[in-house]
Amino acid sequence: MNQGDLSASEMHPETRPFWEAGRAGEFLLRICQDCGRFHWYPRAICPFCFSVRTEWRASGGEGVIYAYSVMRRATPPYAIAYVTLSEGPTMMTNIIDCDIDRLFIGQAVRLAFKPASDGRAIPCFRPVSTDKPPPTTRRG
Ligand SMILES: [Zn+2]
Repeated sequence: MNQGDLSASEMHPETRPFWEAGRAGEFLLRICQDCGRFHWYPRAICPFCFSVRTEWRASGGEGVIYAYSVMRRATPPYAIAYVTLSEGPTMMTNIIDCDIDRLFIGQAVRLAFKPASDGRAIPCFRPVSTDKPPPTTRRG
């Protein structure tokens, strides 16, 4: 599950609505009408129960960082991350418009489309806040 999957499926007719919605600023996810679960990346067949009864649903575009990695040797450095969406799926993406030294696991992020050179709108995320939750105090 990575952006390679997304890019590779780009030419497939089943993801065309995804890219068209993205250009209009809407982030679509695929939901299964049989088991009710969202999945990522978009597929016609549900990866959980193999139902073909899947449909597009607009995402709220909110999530939290599940894991991240900063590519410090790149120019400029950038951050890639697994973001768990509030709808459930976890997707690999880029964290943009951020201080890469202040990212943390569990950080709330919000969808921000980034235009690609080929005209596609790539779903990325930016931090909602850079405030870390206070460290939990240990008792005993
Ligand atoms: Zn299903």
